[in-house]
Amino acid sequence: HQQALRPFVDKESIDAEGHHVELAGNIGRPEDVELVVANGADGVGLFRTEFLYMDRNSFPTEEEQYESYKTVLEKMGDKPTVVRTLDIGGDKELSYLKLPEEMNPFLGYRAIRLCLDDKELFRVQMRALLRASVFGNLKVMFPMIATLDEFREAKAFLLEVKEQLLSEGQAVAEHIEVGMMVEIPSAAVIADLFAKEADFLSIGTNDLIQYTLAADRMNEKVSYLYQPYHPAVLRLIKMVVDAGHANGRWVGMCGEMAGDAVAIPILHAFGLDEFSMSASSILPARAQLAQLSQSALAQHTDSILSLSTAAEVEAYVAENF
Ligand code: PEP
Ligand code: MG
Repeated sequence: HQQALRPFVDKESIDAEGHHVELAGNIGRPEDVELVVANGADGVGLFRTEFLYMDRNSFPTEEEQYESYKTVLEKMGDKPTVVRTLDIGGDKELSYLKLPEEMNPFLGYRAIRLCLDDKELFRVQMRALLRASVFGNLKVMFPMIATLDEFREAKAFLLEVKEQLLSEGQAVAEHIEVGMMVEIPSAAVIADLFAKEADFLSIGTNDLIQYTLAADRMNEKVSYLYQPYHPAVLRLIKMVVDAGHANGRWVGMCGEMAGDAVAIPILHAFGLDEFSMSASSILPARAQLAQLSQSALAQHTDSILSLSTAAEVEAYVAENF
């Protein structure tokens, strides 16, 4: 099976009509980039930087982080590398950062909330990232954005750190896209407002599904509610894609759903621009994409969005695509 997919390694990511999409890889550790490159990815769509902070006894220094980002950016060359700023809290804990016990960690002090509250922690990562930006095609992405104010504050902080670096005589890439994850329903609903200010939107379905259905993604007892094809989830995704495009922004997805063979035809019908997935899913996705026709799929969009349950959606895909 894997053998049959090898020829797709250097193929372009295009559908049967020649429509291009970006098929990118998700990474955690810098060394993961090897597998992403080996599988012919068009870029890195999600670098989960929290892994640089985990499995150790203290915060990684600016220099350590700089080396990690530089390694990945150099390996990817001109291809885009979307680096997500620190997303700890919730399910991701650090032994050396004692956070207060919370009743609902997934609804609590985490990710961008923590970084905006602890700017010195955030500054170290931002400096390392911006210094590394000259080695490749860096795009910066903020996690868990719920309000426009958070995005504005995070972006303003990035620009402030950039100015500081330039005044120190450090080199920073001239143009760096600054985008955000859409993984909280509030952000999906006002994606039109975010798309006016963010350079791109990347949908984080792992969290978007759990927050939309109020079902903990780690809890087996409610896993039946963790439904990627729930009509509410699909409608939110469509809204985000449309909002991005209406404002000239590209829209990606970096949750597990982006590499799911049932979801791919739906997402291609919706016009998603970038699919970021685990390295092993890239070639199967490229092979599948080559069989799809966007114009034919798009004719099904309204029908898909009018279905009532996840089961109906799955049946529809099985029958029609
Ligand atoms: C997501 O929520 O879909 C996502 C990609 O982020 P993570 O899985 O790291 O929370
Ligand atoms: Mg997430």
